[in-house]
Amino acid sequence: MKTVVIATNNAHKVAEITTALDFEGWEFKTLRDLGLASDPDEDADSFEGNARIKALAARAAAEAALGRPVAALADDSGLEVDALGGAPGVYSSRYAGADGDDAANNAKLLRELDGVADAERTARFVCTLVLVDEDGSEQVARGTIEGRIGHEGRGEEGFGYDPLFIPDEFGGRLTLAEVSQDQKNAVSHRGNALRALKAQLAG
Ligand code: IMP
Repeated sequence: MKTVVIATNNAHKVAEITTALDFEGWEFKTLRDLGLASDPDEDADSFEGNARIKALAARAAAEAALGRPVAALADDSGLEVDALGGAPGVYSSRYAGADGDDAANNAKLLRELDGVADAERTARFVCTLVLVDEDGSEQVARGTIEGRIGHEGRGEEGFGYDPLFIPDEFGGRLTLAEVSQDQKNAVSHRGNALRALKAQLAG
């Protein structure tokens, strides 16, 4: 049995990862499952760098606790807005200061784009996954979803910038907070990164 530690306790991400990577002989454990906590500084300047920091920290913590080599999988993601030179990027969760304040982040994004016309409001979500294997070898996969930033928040689903992000899919009219979780996963940056990783591993 191959043990893969997932470097997140976010239940949505855990469910999406374990469903997508349904390989025989793999067992997934979250840090919480192992009674561990890992919260390293995510101070890299890329999604891949931050995902690697999270994966290596989780792997080290799990190996120390279990006393045997394990693999670890981490993701890092964020929003790139073209009119803002790619911001908020790796700072997506702390764009307005406090980490993870979605309402403040969305309000700041709308302020920064005040007066910017629809055609210039193009953006994408990016997700990078880093899987570090028992022997230290790595698989890196990236996924994106293209769209634009609306003029006001709409919808109750999802999290983060979903109420402001209008993907090109679904006719280019709905925000990611106005579609179901399954509809989002079918087109999202994280869904696309997981499908790419699965293809690499199966390959
Ligand atoms: P993390 O990769 O979970 O640390 O996400 C970083 C930040 O990017 C989140 O706090 C959100 O602000 C934003 N973000 C990442 N993925 C999504 C998404 O699927 N929808 C909305 N916002 C997202």
